[in-house]
Amino acid sequence: MSAKASLYQNVTRQFDRAADLMGLDGEVRKILARPMNEVTVNFPAKMDDGRIEMFTGYRVQHNNVLGPFKGGLRYHPMVDIDEVRALATWMTWKSAIANIPMGGAKGGIQIDPAKYSQGELERITRRFTFALGSNIGPDYDIPAPDVNTNAQTMAWILDTYWSMMSPLERQRSLHVVTGKPVDLGGSVGRDKATGQGVIYVIEQWARDRGFDLSQATYTVQGYGNVGSWTARLMKPHGARLVAAEDHTGAIANPAGIDPDALLAYARAHRGGIAGYPQAEAVDHKVFLSTPADIFVPAALENQLTAETTPWLNVRLVAEGANGPTDPDGDRILAERGIDLLPDILCNSGGVIVSYFEWLQNKRSEFWELDEVDAKLHRIITAGYGRVAEAVKEYKVDWRTAGYIVAMARLEKVYKQRGIFP
Ligand code: GLU
Repeated sequence: MSAKASLYQNVTRQFDRAADLMGLDGEVRKILARPMNEVTVNFPAKMDDGRIEMFTGYRVQHNNVLGPFKGGLRYHPMVDIDEVRALATWMTWKSAIANIPMGGAKGGIQIDPAKYSQGELERITRRFTFALGSNIGPDYDIPAPDVNTNAQTMAWILDTYWSMMSPLERQRSLHVVTGKPVDLGGSVGRDKATGQGVIYVIEQWARDRGFDLSQATYTVQGYGNVGSWTARLMKPHGARLVAAEDHTGAIANPAGIDPDALLAYARAHRGGIAGYPQAEAVDHKVFLSTPADIFVPAALENQLTAETTPWLNVRLVAEGANGPTDPDGDRILAERGIDLLPDILCNSGGVIVSYFEWLQNKRSEFWELDEVDAKLHRIITAGYGRVAEAVKEYKVDWRTAGYIVAMARLEKVYKQRGIFP
C-alpha cells in the first residue's frame, strides 16, 4: 500500500469539479472550500517505564450548518493536518447525503498504536481528551471510532470527559461520543454498521443492474472493522471472497475464503491475515488484479491511483474506506466502465447508526437491532436514490453526483440562514 499524495488536494479537485458542474453559488463555494475550525494539541502521556512522551493530536471541524460536528478519531502514523482536513470535509458531505442532522469533523493522533501497551493507549487517549477540552461536546462535536480506535477508546473518552464535568451534567452528556460499548450507552448494530451499510448499498446496486449476488465473487482490502464486517455480511448472499489484503500481506483462493474463519485467524494473529492456511500468499499487484465482481477497499486512502487502477479486474468498486480512490483513479474507473459506489455514500452506515446512538442517548431509549437495521436501510437506500437521480440529471459519475447532492443541501441552508451579521 503506497504512500499518500495530499489528500486535501483530492478533496479540492472533487469539490471544484462538482461545484462547476452544478453551478454552486459562489459565496457558498467560498465557505465550503475550507474547514471552519482546526485544532492541534500537543500533550504529554506517561509510558509504562515512567518516561513522558509527547503526542500531537488533531480535530478539524469542517462544517456544522446542518447539525453538530461529527466524525471519527483515528490513531495512525500517517495522521497529519492535511489528512484530517480531508477526512473532516468528507464527513460533511456524508452526513448531508444521508440527510441526517449532523455536520462534519475528524480527528486523530499521529501514532502507531501497535507500539504501545493497552495501558499506554488508555493514558494517551485520556490526555488527548483532556487536551481537546471543550472543543468537543455532546451537542457540539461528537467523536466516534475510526482506523485503530474502537468502543474501548470511546469508553475512555467518555469517562475522561465526564470526570471534567460536574456530577449533575454527566448523565446528560452520554452522547459526547458514539460507538461506545453497548453496556455504556452504545447502540446495538453500531459495531457492524459501516459494513452493513456497504452491503445495503451493494444490494441496491445489484437490484438496479439485475445482478445476482449469490453468484458473485469479491475481494476486500483491509480486515479491520469495516473490511471484516463487509466480508462476513456478504456470506449469507452466497457470494465468494476470493482475495483479501491487509497491512500484513495479501492472500487469495479462487475457491473461496471463509470470512468468519479468516477473522478468527486474524484475531489469533495480532489482527493480521498473512499466513492464513486455506489460501495462497500473493503480492499487492496480484491481489489488486484478482478477477472478481466486486472490490471493497476498506483500508486507507489513495489505493486506487494512475498506477494501480488499470490492474483492477472487477465490475464494481464499493468504497468502505474513506478516500481510497484518487482523482486519477476515478478517471480510469470511468474510462474502463467500472462502477463506483463512493465513500461518502457507501460507508455512511457508520455515521448513520452513530446518529441513532446519539438520539437514543438523548432520549434515554434503547432500540432493538431489527429497528436499527431497518432505519439504517431506509436512510442509506434513500441516499443511494438521491445520488442515482443526480447521476442521471447531471450525467456524471457517482462521486461527483454525491458531492452535488450534499452541496445542494448545504447551499439551500446557507441561503435560508444568510451570513451573519
Ligand atoms: N469514522 C466513521 C466514518 O468515517 C464514523 C464516523 C461517526 O460515526 O461519527 O464515517
